[in-house]
Amino acid sequence: MKKGKLFVLSGPSGVGKGTLREKALADIPNLVYSISCTTRQPRPGELDGREYRFITHEKFTEDIQQGLFLEYAHVHDDLYGTLKADVVRELESGNDVLLEIDVQGALQVRGKMPEAVLVFIDAPSVEELERRLRNRQTETEQALQHRLANALKELELKQEYDYVIVNDDIETASRELRRIIVS
Ligand code: 5GP
Repeated sequence: MKKGKLFVLSGPSGVGKGTLREKALADIPNLVYSISCTTRQPRPGELDGREYRFITHEKFTEDIQQGLFLEYAHVHDDLYGTLKADVVRELESGNDVLLEIDVQGALQVRGKMPEAVLVFIDAPSVEELERRLRNRQTETEQALQHRLANALKELELKQEYDYVIVNDDIETASRELRRIIVS
C-alpha cells in the first residue's frame, strides 16, 4: 500500500489555522488529524481526546523521556507535542496526516521526516492579526500580549516553510491549502 504524506500547518495565533484545518479535514478524503498532547488546561467546550489530549506535566515529561514524541515544544508557557506512533500508524495505513503545530515543532518534524510538507498560514498584516485575536476574546490582555509577541517571532521563521498562504479570504486560503494537499 502507498504510504500517506505528512502535512504540517503553522502560523500565528488568531490567523485562522483552526478553521482552515477543519475545512481541509471535512473536504479531503484520507486526510486525518493528529491530536496533540498538551499540558494546558482545556478551554470551555474543549474535550479531552477531541481538541487535545490534556495531560499533566509529569506525564508529558515521562513521555519525552521515553522518546514517544515526534516533536514537542514549549508554547505560551505550556508543553505541546505530537505522538510519533499515531503519525506513523496513519501514514503506514495510507492516510495523509495533518499536524497543526508551532514553528519550533515544525522544524523538528522537518529534521526527522524531511519529506513532510510545511505550510505556513500568514495574516494579511500584524494589525489584522491583533484585531482577530481580540475578537476571539478567549484570552486575558496579558495572555493576548504574550500570543502577539510569539506571533512576531513565528513570522520570522516563515521562510523555512515550503508554502506560505496569506489568509485574507478564508475560501481562497482554503482552496490553496486543498490544492497543496491533494496535488
Ligand atoms: P492553543 O493553546 O491555542 O490550542 O495552541 C497554541 C499553539 O500551540 C498553536 O500555535 C498550536 O499550533 C501549537 N500546538 C498545538 N499542538 C502542538 C503540538 O503538538 N506541537 C507543537 N510544537 N505545537 C503545537
